[in-house]
Amino acid sequence: MASVPSNPESVFTYGAPLLKFGTGSSAEIGYDLGQYGARRVLVVTDPGVAATGAPQRIAEQMKAYGIEAEVFDGVRIEPTDAGMREAIGYARDSGPWDAFVAVGGGSSIDTAKAINLLTTNDGDLADYLNPPIGAGRAPARPLNPLVAVPTTTGTGAESTTVCVLDVLDLRVKTGISHPRLRPTLAVVDPDLTRTQPSGVTASAGMDIVCHALESYTARPYTSFERKRPEERVPYCGANPVADMWSERALALVARSFRTAVRDGDDTEARGEMALAATFAGLGFGNAGVHIPHANAYPIAGQVRDFHPAGYPREEPMVPHGMAVSLTAPEAFRFTFEAEPDRHVRAAELLEPRLDRSGDPAEYLPSVLIRLMRDIGIPNGIADVGYTDADVTDLVAGTLKQQRLLATSPRETTEDDLAGILTRSMSLW
Ligand SMILES: [Zn+2]
Repeated sequence: MASVPSNPESVFTYGAPLLKFGTGSSAEIGYDLGQYGARRVLVVTDPGVAATGAPQRIAEQMKAYGIEAEVFDGVRIEPTDAGMREAIGYARDSGPWDAFVAVGGGSSIDTAKAINLLTTNDGDLADYLNPPIGAGRAPARPLNPLVAVPTTTGTGAESTTVCVLDVLDLRVKTGISHPRLRPTLAVVDPDLTRTQPSGVTASAGMDIVCHALESYTARPYTSFERKRPEERVPYCGANPVADMWSERALALVARSFRTAVRDGDDTEARGEMALAATFAGLGFGNAGVHIPHANAYPIAGQVRDFHPAGYPREEPMVPHGMAVSLTAPEAFRFTFEAEPDRHVRAAELLEPRLDRSGDPAEYLPSVLIRLMRDIGIPNGIADVGYTDADVTDLVAGTLKQQRLLATSPRETTEDDLAGILTRSMSLW
């Protein structure tokens, strides 16, 4: 069990962006930004999303509201500090901008958060990165309005206060975390996900599942030491408001995930997955995530030669949602004893016809494995190129994610992590 606080927390917080959801909502961004008095707007995207024409269309639509908009399509998928510095440099040189629109997956939204931070505040990216890697500086000045338009259903980046990146020199994923990074407005238009390949839907969907499961099973906010007002963090542990969103997200996933992977043209399933992603984001954006996400950082960051279907071929990668899911069954087997009822409830939400015989600790891992097999997720971390010889390096990478591990409902030692990773080599 996590240690018992001497002076338990009695306060939780809840924050969320404004939300506009539904088919056609992305056509209204010019009006929305006009309300903030924006005149010059940078649309931030990656080359793949730019090729669909959506970012250019959104930029054009803003003209009707007297807004001059330019598209920057230089975002790198799974951004690095070098890639983000390039994007920030571009925005600083071509500025000033008075608002930003991010169109894309988590990479574009996170890059836009960094651009927004570093065009409104001085200094270098490293000044703001989470300690111990960066200086953890808080922005001194308010940021500009940022509209986040997710085109892959899953990351929840449109709802969160974090920006995630790889630091190349250190081969580590880290981020910036501050309430001012949260987008002003999230515009979720399910039509924009229509061209998503099924491999992307599968990985992104596992990210949704894990966001909901990890925030639902996170350490409850009351199990932490009481904080002073200036110490409050966006991720405060499981709380009643985040729980509600996580439960609803799991129910939507149960109904539509397999269908959305099988048939990308099923508009109802696609719409429900977009809603599930939004709900899960509204939950974990406040409760936080834990072991599967902490493990995902080194699993994605130390990749050697894995090229998943549906993603750009140039660089080896383990997509975020896939990386998160690969140790999830073992992680929830490990955390079961801290919150048995919540693990059972989560399994039932994900698989309403669950056969409730046998060991309850096995319900959630087995539900996850059945789902992962059905949608074509690799069978464990060996399938994405890791061997037992890599476990030490992976554990070292996970241990750098103390902010996430602190949200685990069970204290998690180096040996515990080594066990979870070793048993996740092959899941079935
Ligand atoms: Zn995630």
